[in-house]
Amino acid sequence: MNDPEHIAISKSKGIQIDWTDGHHSDYGLVYLRQQCPCATCTGAHGTEPQIYQPDKPDPMNPFPMFKPTLKMNLVEAVGSYAIRIDWSDGHNTGIYSFDHLRKICQCAECKK
Ligand SMILES: [Zn+2]
Ligand SMILES: [Zn+2]
Repeated sequence: MNDPEHIAISKSKGIQIDWTDGHHSDYGLVYLRQQCPCATCTGAHGTEPQIYQPDKPDPMNPFPMFKPTLKMNLVEAVGSYAIRIDWSDGHNTGIYSFDHLRKICQCAECKK
């Protein structure tokens, strides 16, 4: 069971978690958005997974420079096991369980 002891949220930078076992995780915004566990992003319904691509040029957008920088509008607790993130690109169905967050930890130790 992975429990966070402390969660530091910066809506323009990302999330840092201190776990009860002393582990520390640091998640950047784009990485978190790409790791969204919802059915749309993971293709759970048999559809093409929609992986967020911050720098992908959009041929339909004549003003690619105006693509707004990704931010979190809201982060709210879901029970005691997860958080839900409301992204500035309108996506808000991702429920990030602490188990999932711990799994996607990017620190040198976890990457091994
Ligand atoms: Zn998603
Ligand atoms: Zn780690």
